[in-house]
Amino acid sequence: MSAKVISGKEVAQQIRSEIKVEVDQLKEKHNAVPGLVTILVGENPASVSYVTGKTNTAKELGYNSIQDTQSEDITEEQLLALVDKYNKDDSIHGVLVQLPLPKHIDSSKVLNAIDPDKDVDGFHPVNVGRLVVGEALFKPCTPAGIQELLVRGGAQVSGAEVVVVGRSNIVGKPITNMLFQKGEGANATVTVVHTGTKDMSAHTKRADILIVAAGKPKAITADMVKEGAAVIDVGVNRVGTTPEGKAKLNGDVDYENVKEKASLITPVPGGVGPMTITMLMKNTLVSYKNSLGL
Ligand code: NAP
Repeated sequence: MSAKVISGKEVAQQIRSEIKVEVDQLKEKHNAVPGLVTILVGENPASVSYVTGKTNTAKELGYNSIQDTQSEDITEEQLLALVDKYNKDDSIHGVLVQLPLPKHIDSSKVLNAIDPDKDVDGFHPVNVGRLVVGEALFKPCTPAGIQELLVRGGAQVSGAEVVVVGRSNIVGKPITNMLFQKGEGANATVTVVHTGTKDMSAHTKRADILIVAAGKPKAITADMVKEGAAVIDVGVNRVGTTPEGKAKLNGDVDYENVKEKASLITPVPGGVGPMTITMLMKNTLVSYKNSLGL
């Protein structure tokens, strides 16, 4: 068997087109567009590149897209005041602070200062709580992208045995919380494995859906995967450089061999990655619609 490869690029493009149609219709009816501000402190090249990607995508979709860049020496108090300003701005529906922040600033304090109703990353403890009780306002972007890939890729999630590799706050824990909820694209039986798990492959081998977010190249090899499983590879590992001198990326899964055993698989790059920004746009649209009482 050779797996069907789910292209995150294509699915992300499809969702962006759906968002654009909705935004255009809402703009005509309500004379307003979704507003997203991304606050960047300093000039860390990776952060600049992430923020630019978010800002440009928002612009392409017709959002009011603001990139607010602050100098490295902004004080915590000043940054908190800036967050508060956007919390109170009715034209802004999503407030995002790019991490990491400089050492003199307490990141948790800043993230917790974002109005939970504008926390489109979904990391505020209030939103984590909402997710756990099954009343999510915003699903965190990477896990939301994984769920969309499963559903649009045709995987049967309801009733499936899902194994999640990794228990981070941004991927492992939220995707676990999302997939065992009652409801569409969920209702699965979910097991989480991590470095404290005694016999990891005993678990992974019985997974109908295997979601891997370990940050370790080849953490999952073909002998650890059940025939016909759907495999979502979240990992992004830099493994040398391409002939053009760019960073060469691999996931956490031994792609070439696992592909021959799985029924569905996501590539790296071009799998989960492109979905993350798209789900941020979707969350901003949700927040904007909430503000209109829709
Ligand atoms: P993280 O915070 O480093 O967490 C990794 C988790 O995997 C931890 O829970 C760790 O266990 C577990 N783990 C590590 N090695 C393992 C192994 N050999 N066997 C079993 N469990 C193992 O990472 P993260 O933030 O969740 O990110 C994971 C990967 O996804 C990274 O490569 C990251 O770059 C990528 N990522 C991609 C996107 C995207 O948009 N494409 C978004 C977010 C993350 P312990 O808890 O026991 O240490």
